Amino acid sequence: MSSGIRTPVTVLGLGLMGSAIAKTFLAAGHPTTVWNRTAAKADALVEIGAKDAASVTEAVGAAPLIVVSLLDDDAVAKVLSAAGPALRGKVLVNLTSSTPEQSRARAEWADVHGVSYVDGAVMAVPQGLGTPDALLLYSGSESGYRTAEPALKALSEKGTYLGADHGRAAAFDAALVSVFWLSLFGVSMGIALAEAEGIRGSELVPFTPALIGLMPGLMAQTAAQVEADHYPADDTTISSAYEAFTTLRTIFAHHGIDTGVLDASGDVFRRALDSGYGADGLGRLVPVLGGGR
Ligand code: NDP
Repeated sequence: MSSGIRTPVTVLGLGLMGSAIAKTFLAAGHPTTVWNRTAAKADALVEIGAKDAASVTEAVGAAPLIVVSLLDDDAVAKVLSAAGPALRGKVLVNLTSSTPEQSRARAEWADVHGVSYVDGAVMAVPQGLGTPDALLLYSGSESGYRTAEPALKALSEKGTYLGADHGRAAAFDAALVSVFWLSLFGVSMGIALAEAEGIRGSELVPFTPALIGLMPGLMAQTAAQVEADHYPADDTTISSAYEAFTTLRTIFAHHGIDTGVLDASGDVFRRALDSGYGADGLGRLVPVLGGGR
């Protein structure tokens, strides 16, 4: 799989993500074999040059690099056990979302079966693969990753290897995606409030970059405070943030908008205040949540 040679690749799983992965490999010139439980999902890929394998074993036998994108770890276990000894000596890159513990257990399984195992996390939507915005994170077998790297660059030029712990990519994924999931509710609530005040959600859009632009700085400041286990109130205190937060809750309650998400956050603020951390910076919320070392 040296640079310049288009490595043959097999993709197991042709859901929205797996199909996009296969399509991206094909677009980059990789001979691509595909397999999916529901065989008809291979048809569109065959039309653009993929080879459709009749079984998992046949698919695995067709390439030195196997990329997996299935619903969850249970599906991965079922599909890989069907491949049997055909996997021996292959580089397996599993892009299925998993917990760090599932990734580490899958690595032990791979070790027993003679597979170079790389666990990956896709921090992109299917349409983003192969574009400059796509980010994929990998961890596990370094030799497996280096072997697969030239082909994986087709999916993301920004693909990053995070180290030998197979659970590390999944841990980065979960930590970063938690920011996304909670922001999703922020977006939903913000638009709900705007509409209740007679403002179209679209009127907010031009102002969102200013807010989102604060996030990297907040992440860096919070990380630094937790690493130093020192929580100076450089820009705001927990007490004053809680006051602003309470005002916000009042506005939502006035419009009859569900305050459940805010109330859960309010509980964390109150625990911090009850513990005497009112004069601290916001990084203090991390240990109050049970985080830190
Ligand atoms: P889909 O639901 O579109 O596809 C799921 C795939 O898993 C299908 O190929 C399905 O086969 C297969 N599958 C499910 N159960 C089994 C089983 N028991 N045995 C064999 N195959 C099975 O999901 P996505 O493609 O969207 O997601 C795939 C992975 O990518 C997930 O882990 C997801 O978290 C991750 N991901 C997805 C993103 C996205 O935006 N879509 C973004 C980032 C990560 P069949 O077609 O036969 O049902």
